Amino acid sequence: MATSISALAGQPSPDQALQRLIEGNDAFVADNPLPSDVSRERRLALAEGQQPFATLVGCSDSRVGPEQLFGAGLGELFIVRTAGNNVDAAGMGSIEYSVAVLKVPLIVVLGHDKCGAVAAAADVVTKDARFPGSIGRMIEPIIPAVLAAQRNVDEDKLVDSAVEENVRRMVERLKTYSEPMLLEPQERGELKVVGAVYELATGRVRWL
Ligand SMILES: [Zn+2]
Repeated sequence: MATSISALAGQPSPDQALQRLIEGNDAFVADNPLPSDVSRERRLALAEGQQPFATLVGCSDSRVGPEQLFGAGLGELFIVRTAGNNVDAAGMGSIEYSVAVLKVPLIVVLGHDKCGAVAAAADVVTKDARFPGSIGRMIEPIIPAVLAAQRNVDEDKLVDSAVEENVRRMVERLKTYSEPMLLEPQERGELKVVGAVYELATGRVRWL
């Protein structure tokens, strides 16, 4: 465990990677964000190759830019973003690439309160709402999370509860129902998958 492959490749351990995100978000919440390295020197170094320390699956919402929330610089986070933070085949392939090729030690699935995509999925369930184009198909994978949340909370808390449920389901999928290239590093202790919810007003990332 002490000398995992990811450690040999120069990557932090999963817990070290998580600690960096926690510290970065603490600084962001305190209005004292970590200085993120976007210098020319850093760009030149990164032109030779990348070694991000975390993969982030987040929402496209303009208020939840991952580098900002965690004070991360160029080359530090490998990011998949879709409205509602669900992933299709392209998103899953991106995650697999980050782990199999870049040896990323940590995957974070990050939802956020007041998520419009999750609210839209809730409207499908509670109001029989319909959405045009590909929006409807994008929302469909969120509907099971809304149905699960509906069993536990009243309608006024439905969206925020479904946000959390949606994150938990994605984490579960990555931990249990994914390819060996994601499961085996987890079994070896070289990869962790964690869920979190970002709170828009406070800036706080709440780890699940
Ligand atoms: Zn959202």
